[in-house]
Amino acid sequence: MFDNLSDRLEATFTKLSGQATINEVNIGIAMRDIKRALISADVNYKVVKKFVEEVRAKSLGEGVVKSVSPAQMIVKIVNDELVELMGGEHKPLDLNGSRIPAVVMVAGLQGSGKTTFCAKLARRLKKNGRHPLLVAADVYRPAAVEQLKTLGGQVDVPVYAIDEQDALKVALEGVEEARKTARDVVIVDTAGRLQVDEAMMVEAETLKEKLGPDEILFVVDAMIGQEAVNTAKIFNERLDFDGVVLTKLDGDARGGAALSIKQVVDKPIKFMSVGEKPDDLDLFYPDRMAQRILG
Ligand code: GDP
Repeated sequence: MFDNLSDRLEATFTKLSGQATINEVNIGIAMRDIKRALISADVNYKVVKKFVEEVRAKSLGEGVVKSVSPAQMIVKIVNDELVELMGGEHKPLDLNGSRIPAVVMVAGLQGSGKTTFCAKLARRLKKNGRHPLLVAADVYRPAAVEQLKTLGGQVDVPVYAIDEQDALKVALEGVEEARKTARDVVIVDTAGRLQVDEAMMVEAETLKEKLGPDEILFVVDAMIGQEAVNTAKIFNERLDFDGVVLTKLDGDARGGAALSIKQVVDKPIKFMSVGEKPDDLDLFYPDRMAQRILG
C-alpha cells in the first residue's frame, strides 16, 4: 500500500546521506520532498504541515546536525513522528467492563466492510476464549442479514436475526438472547448507507444511547483516502466512537487514511482489515506501520 510513499522517502534519505554536511538548506530540501511525498500519498494537508514542521525542528536540533550520522538520525526522527502520527502505542479493544455480555457496536457506511469485520472480530474473540453472538441490526437490507448469517456460519459463531424493521428492538433482543444463551460479548452490525445520511445517524445515536455499548467501532475503507477522514469526522461528531477499523489495506490505497485519521478525529485505529477472508484481520500497531513505510 505504501509503495510509492516508501520509495519517495527512501530517495529523500539517500540524497541526504550523500551530503558532506547536513545544514538548513539540505534539510529544507528534504522537508519539501517529504511534504510532497505525504501529499501525494493523500495525507490530510494540515496533518502534513504539522508533521513536517515537527520533523524540521527536530532535525535542526544541535545533536542531529553535529552527529556522526545525521541522515540516519533524521530517519529515526521521521520514524518516531510517523508512529506518533498514527497514535503511538497500539490501543486494544476494551471489553473489560463489569457488564456481561459486553457490547460492541459496529458502524460505518455501506460497502466499508462492516459486516465482514463483525464476523472477523467474532472469530478473533472466539479464538481468545470469548463466546460472541453476532446481531444483525442492519435491518433494511435483507442481503446484509443473510450475509451476516453466512459469515457467522463460516466462523462458527451464532447470529441473532429476526424479521423486524426496528434496529433497536433487534439489538436489545440480541443482548437478551446473549444473556439467555451465556454469550459474553455481543457484536452489533448496524445499518450503513452509501453516504452519510441523517436517518442513519439518528438510528446509530439511539442505538448508542439505549445499548450503552462498551465499544463503538467505526469501520472505514482506506481506499477512499481523504473521504475516509471526512466520514470519520462526521461519525465521530455524532457518535464519539472509541476506535477505527481501517479496511481494504490489502488494496492499493495510498495510505492517506491510515496516516491522517488519528490526528483528525483523535481516536485510535484499533484494527486493520487486509482481505476478505475471516482471518484477514490484524491489530493496528503504529510502530509496525511506520516500519513498513520506511522499509
Ligand atoms: P458493509 O456493507 O460495510 O457491511 O460491507 P461488507 O462487509 O459487505 O464488505 C463489502 C465488500 O468489501 C465485500 O465484498 C467484502 O468481501 C469486501 N471487503 C471487506 N473487507 C475487505 C478487506 O479488508 N479487503 C478487501 N480486499 N475486501 C474487503
